[in-house]
Amino acid sequence: MHASHSPLTGLTLRALGNALGTTIGRNRVCVINYHRVLHSPEPLLASEPDVDTFRWQMELLARCFHVMSLHDALRAIAVGKVPQRAVCITFDDGYRSIHELALPVLREFGLPATVFVTSGYIGQGSMWNDRIIATVQALPAGELDLEDIGLGTYQLRNLAQRRHSLELLIERSKYLPPAARDNLVDRLDRLTDKETRHDPMLTRDMIIDLNHHGIDIGAHTVSHPILTSLDDQTAWHEIAGGKAQLEAIIGKSVRLFAYPNGKDGKDFDERHVAMVRKAGFDAAFTTAAGSFGRCHDPFKLPRSRPWDDAPLTFGLRLLRWLAPGAP
Ligand SMILES: [Zn+2]
Repeated sequence: MHASHSPLTGLTLRALGNALGTTIGRNRVCVINYHRVLHSPEPLLASEPDVDTFRWQMELLARCFHVMSLHDALRAIAVGKVPQRAVCITFDDGYRSIHELALPVLREFGLPATVFVTSGYIGQGSMWNDRIIATVQALPAGELDLEDIGLGTYQLRNLAQRRHSLELLIERSKYLPPAARDNLVDRLDRLTDKETRHDPMLTRDMIIDLNHHGIDIGAHTVSHPILTSLDDQTAWHEIAGGKAQLEAIIGKSVRLFAYPNGKDGKDFDERHVAMVRKAGFDAAFTTAAGSFGRCHDPFKLPRSRPWDDAPLTFGLRLLRWLAPGAP
């Protein structure tokens, strides 16, 4: 269906990329961040690619861009020798579908990638946001009343309402203190049948296997908290503890970190940047859009993902992010 391999798309992107690369846009890297890859499109997870979409995106990157590992990209930036149209691929949180669905596609095209794993959920349980998604998916059509815990009411009468309610619930619960959020998620859990849930996180063996196939493992805290909602001691345990747990699994040093939720000043601040440095990481990633070069703070490197559903516009957005003066 998607003609990512269309000669026109490939030629256009390479020609544009070469033109941009000859200007001051050179020596820049754009990092793409995915979360999970779906077996088939899911209406409530419209922003996550299904495996067919992921496949044309990887084919396009393999044909029109220079895909590098994050470590290679950081080294290339340090010596000022970044190839044109340099792109890195990352996945956040550590979903099982990275091993089951993304790895075969990455291997098919010979693409390196990094998975930032939330260490507290390895092989067990679900992250709080996924528990909310599971509940909103499973509840019958009607109204969800959370007035008693001060979180309002939510309409679930059709897909549009369900989507909107899910967005609101996740956005509101993100910034609740951890105890209040646990309370909300437990409350939601009790509304649905536990049997309907599945365990979507990577196991220890899958992490070892990913790493064995050249996929780098990065840290993403123990429990995926909003760091600014924690006291410093707890934040330190989340940052350094997640690193130690992953190192114990793969038997090597973990040098890259991604801030949960990733908004500078909102989800993390300078205290956490200092902790990430002190914990022994080489670089850390936010969720700001754009690309980076040599002058960028290595502990606040941007990452983003083109949301376009056609190959040409997907590729053009990457080129725009790589271009001089891009965000
Ligand atoms: Zn995350």
